[in-house]
Amino acid sequence: TSALLETENVHLYYGEKEALKGINIDFKPNTINALIGPSGCGKSTYLRCLNRMNDLISGVKITGTFNFKGTDIYAPDVNLVTLRTEIGMVFQQPNPFPFSVYDNVAYGLRLNQHPSKTELDEKIEKALKKAAVWDEVKDDLNKNAMAFSGGQQQRICIARLLAVSPDIILLDEPTSALDPISSGEIEATLMQLKSTYTIIIVTHNLQQASRISDTTSFMLNGELIETGQTSKLFVTP
Ligand code: ADP
Ligand code: ADP
Repeated sequence: TSALLETENVHLYYGEKEALKGINIDFKPNTINALIGPSGCGKSTYLRCLNRMNDLISGVKITGTFNFKGTDIYAPDVNLVTLRTEIGMVFQQPNPFPFSVYDNVAYGLRLNQHPSKTELDEKIEKALKKAAVWDEVKDDLNKNAMAFSGGQQQRICIARLLAVSPDIILLDEPTSALDPISSGEIEATLMQLKSTYTIIIVTHNLQQASRISDTTSFMLNGELIETGQTSKLFVTP
């Protein structure tokens, strides 16, 4: 299969500081791709390039090729709202909006379309089921999303993305704020989601990368040191 997203020779400068020094990684459909490396090596910076979150920071200069389904995501006519729907992001700290579970998951659907109540109900149930949190929230859809556990909040945030049908899900250390059980639930959810989506996950956890990812890219000091199939990169005793 050919790549869904190809990045070539990516350089990023924060002012004078070169934080990415020529990164080349391709992402194939229906795969989980881990980005690992020590703190400060540029993992989050690279991830944020993939849906143009770095555009928000002043003094940032980005060069290189970003080809998503045959189009350049840095082309001047790209609609950033559409791009961030197609390539959605989940953060380290779960960040549900401070309103009900229902309204959280409905958010993007209401922005882009004018769905009927029935349509909305269906899509919300479907998204929460895909994010494997439906059983835990179905009796409390009107409860504030922030009242749930960290792991549940993270899966509600994943459902919020899934509701608008992304192609790619970016996750920046999505389990590092969670306990091991909630973390395992997120990993299991991601394993299920890869049949439909392409997943790119920043993690500092080597075991996590080896458990769930198809490919792993190692970064060090803004450079890509190694990238390839996880099963070949990790030698299991
Ligand atoms: P990682 O995700 O691997 O921990 P980051 O991408 O957060 O690394 O950071 C890479 C480097 O860029 C670090 O040296 C960090 O201090 C620097 N950096 C990150 N964000 C900014 C910013 N907004 N402005 C300036 N420097 C930044
Ligand atoms: P992460 O935990 O994802 O590696 P960091 O802790 O490096 O992220 O950064 C947290 C936030 O602070 C990010 O928004 C990042 O852009 C910003 N940041 C990091 N380093 C710097 C820096 N040297 N100057 C300005 N902002 C920075």
